[in-house]
Amino acid sequence: MLADYAVRVEQSRGRRHPEPAHPYRNDFQRDRDRVIHARAFRRLEAKTQVFTRRHSDHFRNRLTHTIEVAQIARTIAAQLKVNVDLVEALALVHDVGHPPFGHAGEKALDAEMRKHGFFFDHNLHALRIVEDFELRYAAFRGLNLTFEVREGIIKHSHDYSAAEFPEISEYLLDQRPPLEAQLIDVADEIAYSTADLDDGYEAHMLTLAQIRAGVPIFEHFFPEVQRTYPKALEKLQFNEALKRVLNHLVGNLIHNTEAQIKAENIRTLEDVRACPTRLAILSPEVEQERRQAKEFLYRNLYFSEALSPEKNDAERVISQLFDFWLRKPENLPSNYREKAKQEPLPRVVCDYIAGMTDNYIYEQYEKYCAG
Ligand code: MG
Repeated sequence: MLADYAVRVEQSRGRRHPEPAHPYRNDFQRDRDRVIHARAFRRLEAKTQVFTRRHSDHFRNRLTHTIEVAQIARTIAAQLKVNVDLVEALALVHDVGHPPFGHAGEKALDAEMRKHGFFFDHNLHALRIVEDFELRYAAFRGLNLTFEVREGIIKHSHDYSAAEFPEISEYLLDQRPPLEAQLIDVADEIAYSTADLDDGYEAHMLTLAQIRAGVPIFEHFFPEVQRTYPKALEKLQFNEALKRVLNHLVGNLIHNTEAQIKAENIRTLEDVRACPTRLAILSPEVEQERRQAKEFLYRNLYFSEALSPEKNDAERVISQLFDFWLRKPENLPSNYREKAKQEPLPRVVCDYIAGMTDNYIYEQYEKYCAG
């Protein structure tokens, strides 16, 4: 049972290359499955989320993070009665455009590109992956995804102006994305801010006392957990409180989105698209709590002393390899040398690096830059 403002697969704007219907999967289900079977999706397993393999095998990588986002997003979508198949496809594809080394890698790659008058944007890169780089089908390049999935890849996390990005003007840039895409961004924020508290605590980079003092939304639940389970191990008390934080954020997003839909008198998908603001958002108070948690993570984890070796690695490895291939493009693989005949070399080198896993880029670094 879909709400009237949900995206309906029968009304999809379709694929670039029309394909016959599948006997038992609809087009969004097929897109979800195409993402799962893509090389770029498999490589997420060896890409850093926050912690590298050096820390432990138990921490999130980009693939397990992606699966957590899909779980949270599906739950929210079902409650809001929007299209769960589309949401799942968008959640699974949302991070495929990320380079190696997590956030630090993205910054380093962008900095290299800016030296040559370009930039790196992981959403635009993800679109290039699904439109061009993935080679699976004899009839066309890319995955030939439906319009709605491509639109969601571009628009889930922020808006682009058609004046600045004429190459993506087909994606209705003057309109809001459907709720299915809007909720991915918040599900992503909820997933990583709770997961990073968990991994940071497990890694002994964050203490319970520090989290209680610095994250009000966590402290809101912790004393009650202590009263309920006074004899439980600290880690289990921590888990119980964090679970409540996650439920609190997800519940608030569901209820607040419903309230926004009512307040803005949203009835149809066209209403969602025409609404001047996004509808899938946390309430102001809870948004404030989420922001506090995020700022805490930036201060105490992402920019911490403990993770600075990783950050320095990311900058050194990416900038030296970028520079190496710009000077010696003959060392690029043949398909990238071919591409460099039609596209600026920095863009081609950037595409090559962005696709790499952490392991592979270290290998390349050893081969060309070390020693
Ligand atoms: Mg993400």
